[in-house]
Amino acid sequence: MFPQIEAAAAAGRTWDVVIAGSSFAAMFFLRGLPEGLSVLVVERGPVHGHEAQLESGLYPAESFRMDNSSGHPKNWVSRVLFGGNSNCWWGQVPRFLPSDFRLSEICPDAAPWPLDYETIEPFYAEVEEVIEVAGGGVEHLSPRSMPYPHPPHRLCRLGARLNEADPLNWVPVPTARANGGSRPTCCANGTCYLCPADAKFTIWNGVDKFDYPGAFLLPDTEVRRVDIAAGHTTGVEVRRSDGVRLGIAAGTVALATNAIFNTAILMRSGVKAEALGRYLHEQQSENCILDLKDSALFGGTSIPTHGVAFRDGPFRANAGSVLIEIYNSPTLLRPEPGRQTHRALIKLIAEDLPQPQNRVFLEDDDVRITWTGHSDYARRGLDRVAEGLIDSLPFPVDGLTRLAITETESHIQGTHRMGRDPATSVVDSMSRVHGIKGLLALGAGVFPTSSPSNPTLTLSALSLMAGRAL
Ligand SMILES: Cc1cc2nc3c(=O)[nH]c(=O)nc-3n(C[C@H](O)[C@H](O)[C@H](O)COP(=O)(O)OP(=O)(O)OC[C@H]3O[C@@H](n4cnc5c(N)ncnc54)[C@H](O)[C@@H]3O)c2cc1C
Ligand code: SF4
Repeated sequence: MFPQIEAAAAAGRTWDVVIAGSSFAAMFFLRGLPEGLSVLVVERGPVHGHEAQLESGLYPAESFRMDNSSGHPKNWVSRVLFGGNSNCWWGQVPRFLPSDFRLSEICPDAAPWPLDYETIEPFYAEVEEVIEVAGGGVEHLSPRSMPYPHPPHRLCRLGARLNEADPLNWVPVPTARANGGSRPTCCANGTCYLCPADAKFTIWNGVDKFDYPGAFLLPDTEVRRVDIAAGHTTGVEVRRSDGVRLGIAAGTVALATNAIFNTAILMRSGVKAEALGRYLHEQQSENCILDLKDSALFGGTSIPTHGVAFRDGPFRANAGSVLIEIYNSPTLLRPEPGRQTHRALIKLIAEDLPQPQNRVFLEDDDVRITWTGHSDYARRGLDRVAEGLIDSLPFPVDGLTRLAITETESHIQGTHRMGRDPATSVVDSMSRVHGIKGLLALGAGVFPTSSPSNPTLTLSALSLMAGRAL
């Protein structure tokens, strides 16, 4: 664990690098930094470890003021403590497909990425080593330079039957829920938001992987704004939990507080960019029931199987790519006698097209969100699957029932997207804010498009790459 420092002592010196936040984006950026720098990690929340969380329950989420005109409930989940949402994530870590970085080539409304899959691939591999991913059988989707560190979990019965009949379209989920390695092996009880066994990777249980001589942690302290003079970063203003404000001098500042808080800090710092705060997005997902002729359950982890038949193709010109998750736990039971386990809960996860009117902004210095709903592009993606899934299966089933659109995928993306053109983006391919020396904005806020793949592996790889490039 990092040595901690008092705010007054931190303010008494000049740091090479200040990092705001202490979750994936922050820690992988730190891991990527060249040796010999003085680094201060400023975390707004407390240090509250796994044991303390098991005793007190899940750490409370922030609430945001939001104008929601979408017609659906919407929620953005953010936990402010050391390790952030790594404490409550589920550990699904599929890579993006190479085509996810090229969506703009076939979809006119998609913004271009300023980098390609080949550039990020070695960083994906390093992140997968660090978080000890269990995976395999997905190389045809996202080419790999090295095997996964650990084998995939055993599939549930439905997943195993699908994988045997159609191994290219029904594949094991790559996951940071352990199957070998330094953490206890996952047991599939499905309370992964606070894993009792500590089987999923968290920043807390993986903190040794981010050892950096010269790094200090300043907890319970919020980064409010970045000081910028003549286009150069000179430090940050912080506010301690007792309300005291201090200035801390630094040559480089990396914001890793998530797409909502990063935006607030950039706006308070006077950063002007047309795209800043806009294009807030995440995937649109829908739960469904798949009724079967045979048992669905058992297997090595909570969500063991992905369906990718609707993941890629020319259809993405006007309908979103969809990733299908088959749940093993929690699950739904079928009411008919003797058929209780002949039912699978599946989730359809559609890529959304980020829209400028969905945005984060400041009102009286407080964060406010305008949410008008997901794009029709995402809805068309979901409808394609609902219409075509049963015919695409390699064996007959009893039926598919669509349930509700979920409130959130718990992914906070967009708001400071990357791109080559400062007129339409906020950061470059190394997450450096256009036009300001020494300022970076890390995390899924840099995503110009969504991909249905969960974001954390990709945002961690991009942050690692940004650290290495410094
Ligand atoms: C229930 C749940 C399940 C999830 N499951 C998955 C999954 O299976 N796969 C996946 O890929 N993703 C998943 N996610 C999303 C994943 O948790 C996030 O993508 C990831 O945590 C983002 O990392 P981050 O470092 O960008 O930000 P965060 O994890 O949000 O961390 C931000 C950090 O900044 C700190 N902070 C905030 N404001 C300030 C400030 N002003 N100054 C200093 N510090 C500040 C916070 O306290 C926190 O430590 C899930 C999320 C949730 C909530
Ligand atoms: S399924 Fe159980 S053991 Fe595995 S990560 Fe989730 S809570 Fe932990």
